[in-house]
Amino acid sequence: MRSSSSATGYHQGVTTIDRRIPLNVLQTGPSRPVYATGPRSLESVRMLRISVTDRCNLRCGYCMPKGGVSFQPKDDLLTPVDLAKISGFAHRLGVRHFKITGGEPTVRGDLLEIIQRIRALGSSDISMTSNGLQMPRLAASLKEAGVDRVTLSVDSLRPDRYRDITGGGRFDVFQKGLEATAEIFGTVKLNVVVMRGVNDDEVADFAGLARERDWTVRFIEFMPLGSSVLADGDPDQYLVTADEVTSSIEAVHGPLDPLDASADPGVGPARLLAMPGGRGRIGLIHAMSRPFCETCNRLRLTSSGILRSCLFDGGEVDLMPILRTGSDDSEIVDDRAFLEAFTRCTAMKPDVHGLRGGRAMSSIGG
Ligand code: SAM
Ligand code: SF4
Repeated sequence: MRSSSSATGYHQGVTTIDRRIPLNVLQTGPSRPVYATGPRSLESVRMLRISVTDRCNLRCGYCMPKGGVSFQPKDDLLTPVDLAKISGFAHRLGVRHFKITGGEPTVRGDLLEIIQRIRALGSSDISMTSNGLQMPRLAASLKEAGVDRVTLSVDSLRPDRYRDITGGGRFDVFQKGLEATAEIFGTVKLNVVVMRGVNDDEVADFAGLARERDWTVRFIEFMPLGSSVLADGDPDQYLVTADEVTSSIEAVHGPLDPLDASADPGVGPARLLAMPGGRGRIGLIHAMSRPFCETCNRLRLTSSGILRSCLFDGGEVDLMPILRTGSDDSEIVDDRAFLEAFTRCTAMKPDVHGLRGGRAMSSIGG
């Protein structure tokens, strides 16, 4: 188990970022909050993204750290009780959206217990992001445990390319997971990271899925986070902007109509568009070309108990010393210490993200 690094019981807002490389943010937008209270106040926090593991059964090059993967020791992982304590505090703060992510969340043997514990907190929206490979086995139990919605990640519809991007994944296995998820949950969101020269020629094909099915296909701009394989060299070489994605879709499918997504559960950052003549929707996540930091309403929790203010590089606070003050089994929660930690972390949210940070996406959870 880790030990506390400060006299107050947790880090003094000190990040563990080990390299600070400026990003070429194309358009920074307004740097001050549009919320009445501002994204640096606790009142604006509406979602907690929980990475339950940094492990994964795939090895996507844009996500996993280069130079091999070294996973956290199991003893450093948050337990279901730890996660219930943190989520319970967040729930008391007013957070009603919980996103379960990873690494790959389905590789955790106690995933159902984690979800049941969050569900037991009372009314909230629980969603999960997964690569889908385990969904034929797990979809029904996940729904029963309390998951409301599932997003599956897929970056190619071509089996050979899918295998190359994921470091060995089988597209037919993904397809079975997709079918199982759509059947059990009624609908599904798909996450597609668009990378120039890798899969940008498939944008219109992916969009076509939203014409045929009532699914939401979300296109994510490649983010050169931390030390991932693709973040090396000139990271901008892979960036395909949301505007370029829109043009590619419209060239094949016709004009896309903007949708008002404000009532959507999950309060996500995607700009939503209706597919002309289609049943589904297109989502654009333009974190690089048009950062949405001024409306950011989320905090992130890593599987080892680090509360992060930003996906990129804000600051972070270690919650483990708060959790492990008494017996590990104790369900007693130190609300005052959590409040201080959450307040400190939220205050560290940057005006606009501008640095890569030192963590690969697989350890943060997207
Ligand atoms: N394993 C699960 C999955 O693949 O959906 C959950 C974790 S994954 C880190 C969460 C999301 O982050 C996925 O949709 C993935 O495509 C996205 N992602 C990972 N690395 C990324 C990067 N460098 N840029 C943009 N999105 C990324
Ligand atoms: Fe695993 Fe998801 Fe990262 Fe791919 S994107 S390596 S599936 S965590």
